Amino acid sequence: MLNYLDNDIKFLAGVGDRRSVILGRELGIKTFRDLLYFFPFRYIDRTKYYTINEIDCSSNTNFIQIKARLRVVREVGVGKKIRLSAIFYDQTGTVEVLWFNRAEWIKKILIQNNEYIIFGKAQRFNNSISFVHPEIENISGGITANRALIYGVYPSTEKLTKANISTKTISNLQATLLSIAKANIVETLPEYIIQQNGLMPLDMALINIHFPQNQTALHQSEYRLKFEELFLIQLSLLQQKSIRTEKHDGYLFEHLGDSFNNYYKNHMPFELTSAQKRVLKEIRRDTLSGKQMNRLLQGDVGSGKTIVAFISILYAIDNGFQCAIMAPTEILATQHYNHLSQECEKLSLKCRLLTGSTKKRERTEISEGLANGEIDLLIGTHALIEEGVKFKKLGYVVIDEQHRFGVKQRQRLWEKSDSYPHVLVMSATPIPRTLAMTLYGDLDISVIDELPPNRKPITTVHYTDARRLAVFGFIEKEIAKKRQCYIVYPLIKESEKMDYKSLEDGYESISRAFPLPKYATSMVHGKMKPAEKEFEMQQFVNGNSDILVATTVIEVGVNVPNASIMVIESAERFGLSQLHQLRGRVGRGSEQSYCILMSGDKLSSDGRRRLAAMVDTNDGFELAELDLKIRGYGDLEGTLQSGNMIDLKIANLSKDTEILESAREFAQKVIENDPLLQHPDNSLINKTLSRHKSSTEDYRSIL
Ligand code: ADP
Ligand code: MG
Repeated sequence: MLNYLDNDIKFLAGVGDRRSVILGRELGIKTFRDLLYFFPFRYIDRTKYYTINEIDCSSNTNFIQIKARLRVVREVGVGKKIRLSAIFYDQTGTVEVLWFNRAEWIKKILIQNNEYIIFGKAQRFNNSISFVHPEIENISGGITANRALIYGVYPSTEKLTKANISTKTISNLQATLLSIAKANIVETLPEYIIQQNGLMPLDMALINIHFPQNQTALHQSEYRLKFEELFLIQLSLLQQKSIRTEKHDGYLFEHLGDSFNNYYKNHMPFELTSAQKRVLKEIRRDTLSGKQMNRLLQGDVGSGKTIVAFISILYAIDNGFQCAIMAPTEILATQHYNHLSQECEKLSLKCRLLTGSTKKRERTEISEGLANGEIDLLIGTHALIEEGVKFKKLGYVVIDEQHRFGVKQRQRLWEKSDSYPHVLVMSATPIPRTLAMTLYGDLDISVIDELPPNRKPITTVHYTDARRLAVFGFIEKEIAKKRQCYIVYPLIKESEKMDYKSLEDGYESISRAFPLPKYATSMVHGKMKPAEKEFEMQQFVNGNSDILVATTVIEVGVNVPNASIMVIESAERFGLSQLHQLRGRVGRGSEQSYCILMSGDKLSSDGRRRLAAMVDTNDGFELAELDLKIRGYGDLEGTLQSGNMIDLKIANLSKDTEILESAREFAQKVIENDPLLQHPDNSLINKTLSRHKSSTEDYRSIL
């Protein structure tokens, strides 16, 4: 049976056909429930009255209210420009209130020396304070007893404004809805969860989130709704994890055999850091546990994740399993292939590369090799999870740069084999703890928190365009020492055309400053054909070119230890995480490396903060936390390039860390006591979860 709250929004009094279309399109509000869960994004607190000398016009978003008496009203201006000007005063000063047109009704309520509440946005013109079209109420006869004191302000869009749907309209609709639907709001969490977490009941929370009785009630309702939102995400991740581990056995990698021993004794290129060893132990423990491993390996750029992946791949191969490495771009997959196929050769293992540009004949050959078990390691891009790729015995999958692969895509990997392979997802993007918990709560986390020895910290500087010649001079000196240089341009969808132009202009001016035959410059960007890109890239990798001019296609993973300079053009346009990723392309050898952030003179305060932070620290996790603080998680995701990963209605990952931790902790407790949520006490959660899942499937699918 349809729940009352599932009613089409057009049936709510005051909505109708025309408005329902706009509400649906602009705000995604299609049902009564959608409206009820469309929350204010801020509140105006009208419990406080300002005196006129307290008014601070510098914060221009703040609405304030004052109590003042009317001194005089007059009409000023002529014709169409006529306006009504009223001067009000209190003990501390005077303000002017202006109405521009159709102010007849106002005139009627303005009575000299009566006292008013004036509520609106205060502005300062020529040293006098004014309000334009404020709300105004005559209180000489006393203040209306039951007026609301804390108002919700709802997000709006241009189209909504045009259609005359204001925040006031939304608020009125909420009031209508609550008055008829209050009784239909059914609690979504079991009593014991409400009790133990001291939560406000759902109906109270929904009323107070729209019409707070006072600040305390507002906080309690926010807490309740945020807790529930985060709790359900955590619970569903933990439940997935428990279903996976309870219902499916994991492959056993029991033996350390020929490949591993041979590699470890004869071919190790360097001694592992203790962090690398620790992570290998964790993987070993998982793959001996009989449960399927799903592990996130976080390690700053250059921390040496590849070797960890490769050695753990040898565990699998020694136990008769095939392995796959999946990378987000063709360049990266190819680079992994070029490197690891050499290592495989040393061990007489068979390694192949499969990408979008693999020719049909080769593809067929690879398919055969996978099906008959000849191929030990398949490296590739998304092409790996396409139809028709079938392994004989896929036991282990490594996903590099996980944020571009979703849960769904990981699941498709599982379909490649009879049982679930172990999965290691590697991320070079330091994800703040709160975000990691929310996005990857179903994964166990390993961290490589140590760089290989003998790395010199990268020196980072910030220059404005005026220093360009000096920068060229510096590049020249480094090239004279046989080092190489990256120059990266931002490429942002909205201004793509201009960006390409600046990239090409940049390439030209650099080619002029560093002319052939003495210097060679390559260029790569996303619009090139794969073969062309590959060629240019290889020129740089092989040391045939000195300078690589590029867009952020080189952001992830590319490894050219000889490169010592990273110049980032228009650096203020990048997010912190992305800047840090780019910087990580240098400093991969034992020589001193440099990151040069170029920007114009004019910077926003956030831009300035970001660049200063880059100059200050080399620590990716610290920067990620800061990014989250400066820009909110939305933009951090932007730099993760996976679009709108989580659609949180009320919780804010950068601010609600504590609520997230308690929600996570409690979810863990619930799952520990009842792994599959079968206890009658939890039947309500199951119901809530399944509705929650169907409405959030979209975002989970692109994780
Ligand atoms: P990332 O974690 O960014 O993928 P890589 O695996 O590409 O880093 O490693 C970065 C560089 O460090 C590579 O050139 C690699 O050979 C080197 N490296 C990795 N581990 C060590 C180590 N323990 N000692 C010395 N060099 C190492
Ligand atoms: Mg890497």
